[in-house]
Amino acid sequence: MSRIVYVNGEYLPEEEAKVSVFDRGFLFADAVYEVTSVLEGKLIAFDGHAVRLQRSCDELGMTNPVSKDELMEIHQELVKRNGVEEGMVYLQLTRGNPGDRDFAYPPEDTKPTLVLFTQTANLLNNPKIEKGMKVISVEDQRWARRDIKTVQLLFPSMAKMMAKAAGVDDAWMVEDGHVTEGSSNNAYIVKDGKIITRNLGNEILHGITRAAVLEYARSAQMEVVERPFTIEEAKQADEAFITSASTFVMPVVEIDGVALGDGKPGKSAARLRELYLEESRKQAV
Ligand code: PMP
Repeated sequence: MSRIVYVNGEYLPEEEAKVSVFDRGFLFADAVYEVTSVLEGKLIAFDGHAVRLQRSCDELGMTNPVSKDELMEIHQELVKRNGVEEGMVYLQLTRGNPGDRDFAYPPEDTKPTLVLFTQTANLLNNPKIEKGMKVISVEDQRWARRDIKTVQLLFPSMAKMMAKAAGVDDAWMVEDGHVTEGSSNNAYIVKDGKIITRNLGNEILHGITRAAVLEYARSAQMEVVERPFTIEEAKQADEAFITSASTFVMPVVEIDGVALGDGKPGKSAARLRELYLEESRKQAV
């Protein structure tokens, strides 16, 4: 069955959902995005994603054509029309179609392009929860404003392919010897009971799941330290994990072929996953 896709105010069968070849999202990756997960037909952490979308727009001087309430309505309508019980909603907003290819931004009254679609996925019973993920480290070759959630995802795609070629699940990106983040997730290590994750800055995406997980960790009296850590330090860690909207909290058991701790998914990751799912389900909309 064909999906229903949202394009600039219309709900269309996916075959009819089209965007111009002159769209700046297509020509310049002049676009931002968000991914919000859906559990039991409800949006997880919607508010955080809406706030970050606005921040991305503000940083790029891009017009957001919809209010937070309208955005929530569109998300919920799309989830309903597609009967999504578990999966995600992908949103992309571009600077629109000025008619010609030109590096300079188009006039401010150029209509932005807003597209949303759903994907069903098995988020809760991901087999990686039991086994844990293996990662390799790769040099971070992305641009310097990773705090803005743009669709310039070619390097993360390349990193994912390097991981696949190495027979592992993902890549942790490293800059000046320090881990920035995973290809599409925030990275954490645990040492002597302390949860260590890189502090916020332009070097990493300000993960919505990260913010929630750190809050729940602190409420549960778990010690959190926000600072850069080296890839060498990560290999000596007792455990490691990642967070993202679609994986929640996922254990990492191996980095560059080095097993962490006993090589099994760690207790902190399991506890944080439980806490995150419990709390975020309560707040789902
Ligand atoms: N870092 C990067 C590079 C990402 O692509 C993502 C997921 N989009 C994250 C972190 C996690 O962010 P969130 O928890 O908001 O999904």
